[in-house]
Amino acid sequence: MGRTSKDKRDVYYRLAKENGWRARSAFKLLQLNEEFQLFQGVTRAVDLCAAPGSWSQVLSQKIGSPQGSGHVVAVDLQAMAPLPGVLQIQGDITQLSTAKEIIRHFEGCPADLVVCDGAPDVTGLHDVDEYMQAQLLLAALNIATHVLKPGGCFVAKIFRGRDVTLIYSQLRVFFSNVLCAKPRSSRNSSIEAFAVCQGYDPPEGFLPDLTKPLLDHSYDPDLNQLDGPTRIIVPFVACGDLSSYDSDRSYPLDLEDGSEYKYTPPTQPPISPPYQEACTLKKKGRLAKEICSQDCPVNTVDTLPQ
Ligand code: SAM
Repeated sequence: MGRTSKDKRDVYYRLAKENGWRARSAFKLLQLNEEFQLFQGVTRAVDLCAAPGSWSQVLSQKIGSPQGSGHVVAVDLQAMAPLPGVLQIQGDITQLSTAKEIIRHFEGCPADLVVCDGAPDVTGLHDVDEYMQAQLLLAALNIATHVLKPGGCFVAKIFRGRDVTLIYSQLRVFFSNVLCAKPRSSRNSSIEAFAVCQGYDPPEGFLPDLTKPLLDHSYDPDLNQLDGPTRIIVPFVACGDLSSYDSDRSYPLDLEDGSEYKYTPPTQPPISPPYQEACTLKKKGRLAKEICSQDCPVNTVDTLPQ
């Protein structure tokens, strides 16, 4: 597979490189903003699960005054190459210590916007992946309850799985307006969408508490315990106008506007990608290869001798 094939298969990947974004995800935030004007009046923002940093790039360019006085705090488990105007914290957002470090930056001067594009390493076991994603979202919400100003906005990646109604109900406790949005740059084949929560308005007497997880572990989606007024069905909004590129289609390399294709390398190669060890092993010829023996009914994965 040549280096241009991904450019052909994934038009947003290609456009991200051509526009200097570190990842195609930049278009998701840009399209969400087109629909909801998320950046209006925003000067202070938190980008949770930010690496490699395309949402932080968008935030640092779009918020604040035209002179760029916006303040962005970006957090991720992974190291991220520096970005001008973005303060970085490397840490796990589900850990108390990371949450405390983020909160420290906003004490006395709360944030207008908290975004979270966090995704766990997917296992392929849907229930496990959805559960992990929900935990990440709730950790982000918990941090948001400490740093958001009243009326502030929270946007988080959500998997539209079995628990989603419970999550919407929990979000609705804290925000006057909650809906589910799917930008054109997010593939239809993916269960990913974004919860857009506007108007931060916690219940009277609510005291943010990092030690209390918000997910109700006694909830069983099979029993459909959320009924009547507690069952919240949020509006679903597709965003990015219809003239935007369709993320599920392959496009010819010369774009419709007539611009000629020229290969562009990635804007910011990963600093320490998880596949680094595999690349080193491959170079040394020591990567595990699949070998199939006639005596063996199933494929056996083994390390071939050098
Ligand atoms: N929005 C980013 C951008 O535009 O470049 C892309 C985010 S990527 C889809 C998901 C990120 O979530 C990964 O970088 C991963 O390291 C991060 N992540 C997953 N679990 C995390 C956790 N518990 N704490 C902090 N970051 C986490």
